Amino acid sequence: MMQITRCLLCAAGLACCLAFAGAQARPDAAKVVDDGIVIEDVTLISPERPAPLPHAAVVIRNGKIAEIGTSLVAGPHAQRIDGRHRFLIPGLIDTHVHVGDVAPLDDDAIAAHPDLLEAYRAQLPRAFLAFGFTTLVDLNLAPDTLSWFNRAPVHPTLYHCGPAVRVIGGYTAQRIPKDAAAANRINIVYQSSQAKDWPAALDPRDYTPARAADRVVAAGGICLKTFVEPGFGGVFHWPVPTAETLDALRAETRRRGLVFVIHANAVESWQAAIGAHADVIAHGLWHWPGDRMSATPPAEARDTIAAAVRAGIWVQPTLQVIYGEGSIFDASLLDDPRLAESLPRSVIAYLKGSEGQAVRRAMADEYRQAFAKVLGPSVDPATAMSIGPARVTATLRLMLADNVKLLFGTDTPAGEGIGNPPGLNGRMEMGHWAEAGVPLPRILRAATLDNAVAFGLAKDLGTIEVGKRADLLLLRADPLKTIAAYDAIDTVFVNGTVIARTSLLPAN
Ligand SMILES: [Zn+2]
Repeated sequence: MMQITRCLLCAAGLACCLAFAGAQARPDAAKVVDDGIVIEDVTLISPERPAPLPHAAVVIRNGKIAEIGTSLVAGPHAQRIDGRHRFLIPGLIDTHVHVGDVAPLDDDAIAAHPDLLEAYRAQLPRAFLAFGFTTLVDLNLAPDTLSWFNRAPVHPTLYHCGPAVRVIGGYTAQRIPKDAAAANRINIVYQSSQAKDWPAALDPRDYTPARAADRVVAAGGICLKTFVEPGFGGVFHWPVPTAETLDALRAETRRRGLVFVIHANAVESWQAAIGAHADVIAHGLWHWPGDRMSATPPAEARDTIAAAVRAGIWVQPTLQVIYGEGSIFDASLLDDPRLAESLPRSVIAYLKGSEGQAVRRAMADEYRQAFAKVLGPSVDPATAMSIGPARVTATLRLMLADNVKLLFGTDTPAGEGIGNPPGLNGRMEMGHWAEAGVPLPRILRAATLDNAVAFGLAKDLGTIEVGKRADLLLLRADPLKTIAAYDAIDTVFVNGTVIARTSLLPAN
């Protein structure tokens, strides 16, 4: 009888019926949700929706999005989160990271100061979350990464490609493995064209493309990555996988349901990746034939981008890989307050100190030598450094004009040094996309839904829909209006756990 009475009252639209919920009363039949987490009266922005949904409520139960509506209000037993003047978006996904690489600290620094490595690793998962990245894909998983990363009290969900597949003497496999353990660790694949370099201790039958793919699956990988890196535009001359090897790897990835990712940043490497029907090209295009100091992509680069469009390949432009190198000659990032939101204080103090500065100067010397080798002695390093960002931006604009399927990935930390700090690097990458003219909705989609689709994670991730994992960001500004909205993260939800951003920042 009681229930019938309440029902009638609600149907009559009596405001008193809602008042007991202590929530924003809305006249039309509000439903009281009295368990879980209720984010009330928020502007919901999700990439599959044609427009934001204002005054939305999102209910989280058991780590998942349980209900979405415009007439849900929190009861006294639910955890109510006030979404007024806030924007709710899916947690960001970065599908190109290397969380095991400790770029700001070289081996000597780690040997001399093991506490710095400990501090860096303790902060790293928090730094990704603080900048909104709730899911990561590590494209070349270092052996011990999962154990320390997943032990962190709060961390993004980490997917990976297991050990990336390499050829003897190729990029990241210059040292010839002495035994099977070393060969398996770098997931070497045999190709007959390299028979003379093959170590006698290793049986080529154990290093077929099929065995390489098996190693990825055994490691728990969702993707297989290999490198077509002939040597950074002429600085080095490395062997690369042949078309035959790439074709075989493609076949093995298809057979196992793995995403096929190829590292490529030069015209001929992109062409190899396109020819091999890669799913993802893991870099932008910045090496092309002709004048190395020109920022105007030649016909070959334009044609290659057009071919990637025709092949329907996803591309990660990774601009910050190039921008980040600038910090080798310009250390102003060390005084950027945003860096203090990414790296522990002790690590920044080390980098600013005499040891850190000496390492940076040594790296700068290496770069000067490389520039002298490929550009000649007359080009000064600062000028040489400035051309890289112009080149990656020019090709990103071409990709945009051609409607390349852009994916958000950063390659954090791309190289040694301070230029690609965890979390912040993704924010800087987003900034470069925006400066290059990528529309803000496209940036959001590339870092959420498109990443989820490309890596086979869309059942759980990428949008705010019922049944998906409750990985969400509550922002104080509208990410469809300003890129600075990503500097205004209030709250991060990971698997439904509510985390205030301030609690993720390094301790002072
Ligand atoms: Zn990478």
